[in-house]
Amino acid sequence: MRIHAIQTGLVRVKTAQVEGRGHGLSRRLGIFTDSDWTEWLPTYAWVIDHREGVIVVDTGAAVHLRETAKSLHPYMRWGVAFEIEPDEEIGPQLRKLGIGAHDVKKVVLTHMHMDHDGGLAHFPNSQILVARGELQAARGFMGRVRGYLPNRWPSWLDPTPLDLTSEPFGPFAASTRLTQDGDVRAIATPGHTADHISIIVQDGDMAFFLAGDASYSEDLMLSGKIDGVSADEHVAFATLAAIKRFTQGHATVYLPTHDPESATRLTNRSVVAKVG
Ligand SMILES: [Zn+2]
Repeated sequence: MRIHAIQTGLVRVKTAQVEGRGHGLSRRLGIFTDSDWTEWLPTYAWVIDHREGVIVVDTGAAVHLRETAKSLHPYMRWGVAFEIEPDEEIGPQLRKLGIGAHDVKKVVLTHMHMDHDGGLAHFPNSQILVARGELQAARGFMGRVRGYLPNRWPSWLDPTPLDLTSEPFGPFAASTRLTQDGDVRAIATPGHTADHISIIVQDGDMAFFLAGDASYSEDLMLSGKIDGVSADEHVAFATLAAIKRFTQGHATVYLPTHDPESATRLTNRSVVAKVG
């Protein structure tokens, strides 16, 4: 089994989105009142080259996101900016790895924010898996109010709703297998969105934790600092604590979507250090 990191361009957001300030509504409004941008951060998608077929985790950003400043939605207009070229979208990058559109058996989304579902158009032949609640939150007019872009989904999109009820996994209350022998597994990591999931790939003794936006970096996970987006602080704290507990008990390479160190950690198989 091999895992590839695919960087689909760069994104920047407000610093108050990455590390929430204060509590409650003021924490969530900080995204709009903060004038400080983060540095340009990568947006990674992941390819699991598995004997049961290729699984893609998140589809990254896409060129249409360069137009967010024209949006009427306040977050898109003032809270986020993208840099991406057409050949940085996931489809062309997969072809460079020798993986064609018909080779990808499953695409699973950690959540449906625009820089995770942006590349869906490249997968018309794959089964698309999305947590049931996430799909409901992202759909329709209310999805657009919440900052999703269902209007950018391909017309053929008909995701398979994923229900994470079958078995707890370590400190995670809910999980489901994505492969027959369970070495690729979706686990519930609610917080950033209420139905956010992460993917754990078990390869021998080592776990690769594809974290989506469960945290924006390994440091923020270890220090238990929630973001400026999560609706329920207690839920988000509990998820970061569960991830930390998992990484302290298993050799884990922790791979958030926007952590500038993620690709290097994957290459070097650098595991999360034991902390006090
Ligand atoms: Zn997100």
